[in-house]
Amino acid sequence: MANIEMDKIVAHCKNVGFIFPGSDIYGGLANTWDYGPLGVELKNNIKKVWWQKFVQERENSYGVDCAILMNPRVWEASGHVASFSDPLMDCKECKARFRADNLISNYSKGEVNPDLMTKEEMSSYVQEHHVPCPVCGKSNFTPIRQFNLLFKTQRGVTSDNALDIYLRPETAQGEYVNFLNVQRSMRAKVPFGIGQIGKAFRNEITPGNFTFRQIEFEQMEYQFFCHAGDDEKYYEEFKNASKEFFISLGIPAEKLKFHDHDKLAFYAKAACDVYYQFPFGWDEVNGIHNRTNYDLTKHQEYSGKNMEYLDPVTNEKFIPNVIENSYGLDRAILAVICNAYDVETLPDGEVREIMHLSPKIAPFKVAILPLIKRDLSEKAHELFRELAKEFRVTYDETGTIGKRYRRQDQIGTPLCVTVDFDTLEDNTVTVRDRDTMEQVRMPISELKSYIEKIIK
Ligand code: ATP
Repeated sequence: MANIEMDKIVAHCKNVGFIFPGSDIYGGLANTWDYGPLGVELKNNIKKVWWQKFVQERENSYGVDCAILMNPRVWEASGHVASFSDPLMDCKECKARFRADNLISNYSKGEVNPDLMTKEEMSSYVQEHHVPCPVCGKSNFTPIRQFNLLFKTQRGVTSDNALDIYLRPETAQGEYVNFLNVQRSMRAKVPFGIGQIGKAFRNEITPGNFTFRQIEFEQMEYQFFCHAGDDEKYYEEFKNASKEFFISLGIPAEKLKFHDHDKLAFYAKAACDVYYQFPFGWDEVNGIHNRTNYDLTKHQEYSGKNMEYLDPVTNEKFIPNVIENSYGLDRAILAVICNAYDVETLPDGEVREIMHLSPKIAPFKVAILPLIKRDLSEKAHELFRELAKEFRVTYDETGTIGKRYRRQDQIGTPLCVTVDFDTLEDNTVTVRDRDTMEQVRMPISELKSYIEKIIK
C-alpha cells in the first residue's frame, strides 16, 4: 500500500462525499466536520458493529440514550468542572496555540513523557530545550495556562436567574447516573454493562488533524459494573475486546497497539489506550480504564442517593467497580478510512483510487450498472428496487462501464452488478468484485444470498 498523506485523504473524503468541512460555504469553523452521504452510511454501519459486539452479543448488557444536558452537579461530582483542562501555551511570535504536553512529546519524538510532568516541569522543559513553535519555528512561548474544555451554556429566561449548564464532554456520566435505574428496571445482576452512543463536546482549540480532534464528536462508551474482586479479569477481557473490535472493522492487528498509561488518576487501578498507526503517527482511538468504584461513590456523595448494590446470593452490599470502555466513533471512522484508502497501479499500468472497506461497513454494498442506458435501464431499476429492500444499493448509468467501476472502487463498493442484454433473456447478471476485479455470471435469484455471504 502506498504511503498516503493526510491531505490526500481529506481531499478524497470531500470529493466523493464522505466528510465535508463544517459550515463550508462560510469558510468553516475550526475542528468541526460534517459527514456526507457516504460518511453517514459508514458511521451508521460502524455504530451497528459496535452495538452488536458490546450490547447485543453480551449477556446482561443494556443500552441507554441519555440527555446531553445534565444537572451541573454531575460535572462537579465527576471532577470535570474543577479539572478537565489542557495545559496551553501560545507562541508570542505567530500567536498559534498548542498543548504543552503535545509540544514536548512531538519535540522529543516520544522519548519524554509529559504525563509524568507537573505544569512547571513542562514549562522549564520547553524553555531549556528551546522547543520551536511548529508553525513559525521560533521559541518564544507564554507561560502555561490551564484551559477548561467544558462548553458552558445557560438555562433560564433572563440572564440574572440563569443557571450555568454544560454540554456533556463524555457520554459515560449518563451511564453512571442511571446505574440504579437500569439495574432495577432490568432486574440486572452485577456484573452487567451499560452501553451508549452519542455526541460529546469539548472546547478543543489546538489543531485537529482532520476529524481526529473535534469540538463536537461521537463516543461509543460501555461501562461494565462488577465486583471489586473481578475487576482485573474484566479489565483484561475488555482490552482484548477493543482490539477485536477494530480488527472486525478490517484494521490489521499490526496497525494497532496498546499504550498503558504511565500516570494513573489517584483512584484508578489501571488504564490503557489502543493506538492506531495514522499517517500522522500512532495515536489514541479508544481507552479502557479500571476506575474502581470511584464514579459511583462520587455520585453517591454529591446526589445523596445510595448507590449500593445488594447481591441477592451473598447478601453483600457494595458499590460496584467500573471498567470503562471509551471509543471515539469519529476516530474509529478515521482509522477505517486511512486504512482503506489506496492508490493502486494495475498490471496494465492504469492507476485506480480504491477504498478497501470491509463489505460489512462499506456505505453501499452493491452498485447496479445497466450496460446501456436506453434499453436496459428499466430492468436495472427493477433490480435496484428489489435489492434496496435488503441492502444499501446505488445506481449509476452514466459514462463507460470502466469509468463506473472506477467510481465504485473509489468509494469502496464491494460489488458491481452489470445488467446487459442477456439479462433480458435469461435473468442473469455479471457480478464484479472490487478487490480482485474478477467477474462471475449468476442468476438474479441467487444475488441476495451471494451479497449476504460477502457482507458476513
Ligand atoms: P486525547 O488525549 O486525544 O485528547 P482523551 O484521552 O482526552 O483524548 P478520552 O477522554 O479518554 O480522550 O475520550 C475517549 C475517546 O473519545 C478517545 O479515545 C477518543 O477516541 C475520543 N475523543 C476524545 N476527544 C476527542 C475529540 N476532541 N475529537 C474526537 N474524538 C475524541
